[in-house]
Amino acid sequence: MSAKTRAVHIKGLQIGGGAPISVQSMAATRTQDIDATVGQVNLLHNNGADLVRVAIDNDKDAACLKEVRNQTQARLVVDLQENYRLAETVAPFVDKMRYNPGHLHHHEREKTIEQKVEWIVNIAKEHGTALRVGVNCGSVAPAFLEKYKNDHVKAIVESASYHCDILDKLKFENFVVSLKDSDPNKVIECNQQFSQRRPDVPIHLGVTEAGLLPDGAIKTRIAFEKLIAKGIGDTLRVSLTLPFDEKYKEVEHGRQIIQDVKDGKFISVPDFGKGLNIISCPSCSRVQNNDFVELAQQVKEVTQYAKEHKLTIAVMGCRVNGPGETDDADLGLWCGPNSVTLKKKSETLGHYGYKEVLDVLKERLNKIIDEKKLAEV
Ligand code: SF4
Repeated sequence: MSAKTRAVHIKGLQIGGGAPISVQSMAATRTQDIDATVGQVNLLHNNGADLVRVAIDNDKDAACLKEVRNQTQARLVVDLQENYRLAETVAPFVDKMRYNPGHLHHHEREKTIEQKVEWIVNIAKEHGTALRVGVNCGSVAPAFLEKYKNDHVKAIVESASYHCDILDKLKFENFVVSLKDSDPNKVIECNQQFSQRRPDVPIHLGVTEAGLLPDGAIKTRIAFEKLIAKGIGDTLRVSLTLPFDEKYKEVEHGRQIIQDVKDGKFISVPDFGKGLNIISCPSCSRVQNNDFVELAQQVKEVTQYAKEHKLTIAVMGCRVNGPGETDDADLGLWCGPNSVTLKKKSETLGHYGYKEVLDVLKERLNKIIDEKKLAEV
């Protein structure tokens, strides 16, 4: 816990201001499948999640959220993703809203970023909801990427700080900030820099797309142990790729990390990340084919033979964020309803069936390994 940050209040829960670190999770079900989403939200709530996030993309999702609200006692957070304008519809049914500074430019291009944030803040004030400014490595606001071309960490920190300045001007204090990346070392760097810059603002910790167990939990630990031990972090989520009915493990791992740091138990993993790195998203309501989680597991299994090679394979669950978030990987797969798109960095190699893609992946992986060996000769 950090005693320096100010307290943010969310339906009886205090984040920051010296409160114990709270643990969050997120529903991975389709929001429009109300029964499944209520089941998922309650599974997380009953397993100790202090807050449960649900993603919405459109008016139909937003309408379903009202029903979810009626059927759960969980503190609900909504992820506005690309469509911040849905804030008006969903605010009455949630306790906190997350907006991504990197997605504000998509709509109402005639308005300034300040005007859009003011609009969201006015809705939050009217309904008494808290906010999270959620900056993510895969979708940093273009203006900051342009300004800090060669320094991604700086672009993330500056974007978050800029939004804090806007919120300060609007005299809105009931917010937290997150600065997430899939690389735990970048998460440490971003959060340390931000914490020095804004020691008053509560921080939500997360390593995005940490992936499958056990690696996903290890990657997350690398970042969280270091940050929590320094008093950085007021709330957290461990983002793991898990089947729907095992999603509660995110909460278990979060609580375990907090307890271990408290007890002085640090897990040393000196060689971690030196070989093949498989990143995969934790999935959310946007996943259009439930085979995604199984595919991520199969990718890990069929590429084990290459575990000594320093390469990254990214597996993403949807066609909305998948194409962008696989751009930096040596090989990337993003999942559509019936097919998987395979990429090499930003180049699309083809579209394949869920089973068929695994052989093509291995072929391409072998080719990259051969090319690397030739380059070393
Ligand atoms: S990549 Fe798509 S499915 Fe995965 S968490 Fe992100 S938005 Fe959800």
